Amino acid sequence: MGRQIMKKTLLALLTAVLLFAQGWPSGPSPYREADRKLFAEIEKNNQLIESLEYLCDMIGPRLTGSDKLKRANQWTLEKFQAYGLENAHLESWSIGHGWSRGTAAGRIVEPAAQRLAISSAGWSPSTNGPVRGRVVYVKAEKPEEMEKYKGQLKGTVILTTEPAKVPSDQRAADRPPNAIAALAQERGEDLNIPPAERIKLRRQINEIYQKEGVAAVLRDSSKEHGLFNMGGVGGSNYDLGLIPTAYATHEDYALLWRLLEHKQPLEVEVDIHNEITSEPVEVYNTVAEIPGGEKANEVVIIGAHLDSWDLGEGATDNATGSSVALEVARAIRTSGLKPERTLRFILFSGEEQGLNGSRAYVKAHQSEMDKVQGVVIHDTGTGRVKSFALQNRYDLREAMDKLVEPLREVGLEELSLRWMGGSDHVPFAEVGVPAFMGIQDPAEYRKTHHSQSDTLDKIKREELVQGAKVVAALAWNLSADPEKLPRKEMEASSQSTE
Ligand SMILES: [Zn+2]
Repeated sequence: MGRQIMKKTLLALLTAVLLFAQGWPSGPSPYREADRKLFAEIEKNNQLIESLEYLCDMIGPRLTGSDKLKRANQWTLEKFQAYGLENAHLESWSIGHGWSRGTAAGRIVEPAAQRLAISSAGWSPSTNGPVRGRVVYVKAEKPEEMEKYKGQLKGTVILTTEPAKVPSDQRAADRPPNAIAALAQERGEDLNIPPAERIKLRRQINEIYQKEGVAAVLRDSSKEHGLFNMGGVGGSNYDLGLIPTAYATHEDYALLWRLLEHKQPLEVEVDIHNEITSEPVEVYNTVAEIPGGEKANEVVIIGAHLDSWDLGEGATDNATGSSVALEVARAIRTSGLKPERTLRFILFSGEEQGLNGSRAYVKAHQSEMDKVQGVVIHDTGTGRVKSFALQNRYDLREAMDKLVEPLREVGLEELSLRWMGGSDHVPFAEVGVPAFMGIQDPAEYRKTHHSQSDTLDKIKREELVQGAKVVAALAWNLSADPEKLPRKEMEASSQSTE
């Protein structure tokens, strides 16, 4: 045996052993041909940028309950129809109140006149004209910790956290397992309190603020360079918050903190105007399908959220994912491939206030959840999709490894077992459905999301094209898989909430 031949034989043997060890039959992946067809179609003819331009520049930010989001629902519905999808429709659910942002102004009055840049939190009530108040730091995670502030907070403007460490541009992998825990960590809160419990406690504390006559609450945006963060104070029913609440830029929040440390009188003025509807508002998820063949009653869901916060354009959060879902629909339809399982595209609303559109969907379709083969969500901006999170589902690893093998050609790396919270796959995963979110390159996502800087110019075209290829191929392979992925047996208590 010549040396060269021996080397080759050894290599072949080694490869065979490795493939055998992975439980992978020799020969090419049965999905490769279809996947390559999709890669080529998306590379050549994608309409990602056109969709993004329309959603961001022609429609603009898409706050849940707003007319703009309704327009976006209608536009995406028509787009799915134009791409030849079937059963395109809007599914409605309702929120307690629609809310629209007015003006918010702030200034430091004492010890010296200074700026105070603020943006009202979502569903915050207005102040009754400009209100001036002493600034007080209130440190309380539980109602009983409010005892010591009794009778001292009338007319005050309160800070409830120390300033965050900024930049908080951690890699996704370093962050705690869900968005609420991440926020709690940023605020230095006790991570041992479960998220649902923390929401309840915060509500109780807010009730005490209200009783004590607190004038306003200021939050740290925890972002660099004057960028605002955003969050809602209306709870899951979209009620009006109890106390006028605003985000200050991190710079100004840190200034307030330094002034507080001087223990001199510190006074600010805030003036917040918003509008809220008195009646509940219908909101919508956009749904459309490519019907399956033999297994048409089983479904693969490709999703993203169409709603956004309203300071920027909601470009990377999450017009990117919405455009990817549209593109995957277009590419599969145009390529002439016929899926075995039905491909269902869903653009959710209400994600930013707590995954409410996907929760409403799972609730309305509870009896069909056994028929969902898998859910694929794209929701971390413009960066490349490098992996998918298996949400602690070790049992899915082998099956999923086979499904993603052809995706290595377009840069997908090892799958991750980790639990990822914070997007619309969670309500599905919580009822045992295999549901996956892409793990993406940060590409400034955490710097700009929810801020006035979440705008179209942040888009990196090539990276988003890669993401569309990965999502298209995974969705296709899930639909073609001869095996049905196993559900997870659910324990009595739910695993995580957002
Ligand atoms: Zn998002």
